[in-house]
Amino acid sequence: MRPLIAGNWKMHGTLREAVVLAEAVRAGAGGLGADLLVCPPFLHVPPVAAAMAGGPVAVGAQDCHAATKGAHTGDTSAPMLCDAGATHVILGHSERRADHGETDAVVRAKVQAALAAGLIPVACVGETEAQRLAGEAEAVVRQQLAESLPDDFGGVVAYEPVWAIGTGRTPTEEDIAAIHATIRATLVARFGPAGQATRILYGGSMKPGNAKAILALPNVDGGLVGGASLVAADFLAIAAAA
Ligand code: PEP
Repeated sequence: MRPLIAGNWKMHGTLREAVVLAEAVRAGAGGLGADLLVCPPFLHVPPVAAAMAGGPVAVGAQDCHAATKGAHTGDTSAPMLCDAGATHVILGHSERRADHGETDAVVRAKVQAALAAGLIPVACVGETEAQRLAGEAEAVVRQQLAESLPDDFGGVVAYEPVWAIGTGRTPTEEDIAAIHATIRATLVARFGPAGQATRILYGGSMKPGNAKAILALPNVDGGLVGGASLVAADFLAIAAAA
């Protein structure tokens, strides 16, 4: 399937820097063999969506609330994100799970809210280093999938080992392939043909230097890129490797 390369800009940059980065990504996005998505912070979604309007690069957010509206100070709803020009939303990122105590049940409710609003959720799963060392990685990921995805899931799954995010470390190619095969089997068992068609992204210290090998692995249908997505040339190099 056509790969998706998604950039998670996290909490970086000024409004001006976000627009400059968006324009540079857009300028280099033509003719690639991958779909591109950039996910700026909430405040930067509208100007980045404006910069990407009519072009090949989709825009997403990094979180949403499970409710459509209400007394939720500081939160942003899925319909608001659509209204602001987003088409995708990252949900259940390990930094949200760790910083905000998001459980699988919370992530599932957010995924449902995103789907109801017409957004494509990018649902993140992945084990901690302790869980991997204990031999629990596959079981943890299977459980996260079971509990974070609703029965009507239609979206993207991102496998992001927590210990690989922002560390410069990655699992071996064998380990990535093994987990992605587990994720595929889990999705197919639950969703049938839709599970076969679901994109499974790898995330965690993906860089131009390792992207080609990782993206060539079976059941790796793209990447969720953090640090390297903040440099347009690196992000585009990863996309070119897909
Ligand atoms: C991420 O946080 O989604 C991520 C993959 O970060 P990095 O590429 O910096 O490891």
